[in-house]
Amino acid sequence: MGFNVNPVKVYCKTFEEAKNAVIKIGEDREKLTFGIDGAVIKIDSLSFREKLGTTYKVPRWAIAYKYPPEAKETILKDVIWQVGRTGVITPMAILEPVKVAGSTISKTTLHNEDFIKEKGLKIGDTVVIQKQGDVIPEVIKVITEKRTGNETDVEIPAICPACGAKAVREEGEAAIRCNRYRMPSTIIKRNRTFCIKRVYEYRRTRL
Ligand SMILES: [Zn+2]
Repeated sequence: MGFNVNPVKVYCKTFEEAKNAVIKIGEDREKLTFGIDGAVIKIDSLSFREKLGTTYKVPRWAIAYKYPPEAKETILKDVIWQVGRTGVITPMAILEPVKVAGSTISKTTLHNEDFIKEKGLKIGDTVVIQKQGDVIPEVIKVITEKRTGNETDVEIPAICPACGAKAVREEGEAAIRCNRYRMPSTIIKRNRTFCIKRVYEYRRTRL
C-alpha cells in the first residue's frame, strides 16, 4: 500500500539474543534515517501470544524498551543574541553541526543569561547536547576537561542588537529586554505579522 515499513527487525531464539539485539539497535540508531527512542520485543509464536493474553490495556507478549536520550558532543562556536517580538533578547548557541536522534543540530536556544552562567558556558567549549524528550535539543553541560585555554566568556549584551537601545534586565526577571519597547525591528515584525494576517483574511474571504 506504499507504507514505509521499519527495516530494522531481528529474530531471536533466546532471551540473551533478544537482549543483545536491543543493545545493538541502540548502538546503531544514529545510522538510521529516522529517529527512534526505543525498541519493541514481541513474542512471535501465536500460540504463546494466546497463552500470555492481554491486560485490560496492553498485550503481555510485547514490551517496549526505552533508550536513554541520545547525547552528543559538539563545539559551542558562538552565541548570538536575538530580539523577539516582545523585546526580549535571547541567547542562541551556534554549534558545530552534529547529528542527534536523526536530525542535524547547528543551533539551539540558551534561554537566558542565568542558563549560560549556571552551565558555565564559554565560546569554544566542548559541550554535550541532548534532545529532551527527543524533540528540542538542549545544552546539558560543558566538558571542562577539554578546555584548551582559548575559550572566551559569553558577552552579555549591554545594548539591543536590533536597535542599539539600552539592554536592561529588571530585578527578579530572567530576561534581558530592549529598553525601547517600540523599537524598529519589533514594529517591523509586528507589521509583518499584521500583513500576513490580513493577506490570509483576504484570501479566506475570496475563497
Ligand atoms: Zn531594541
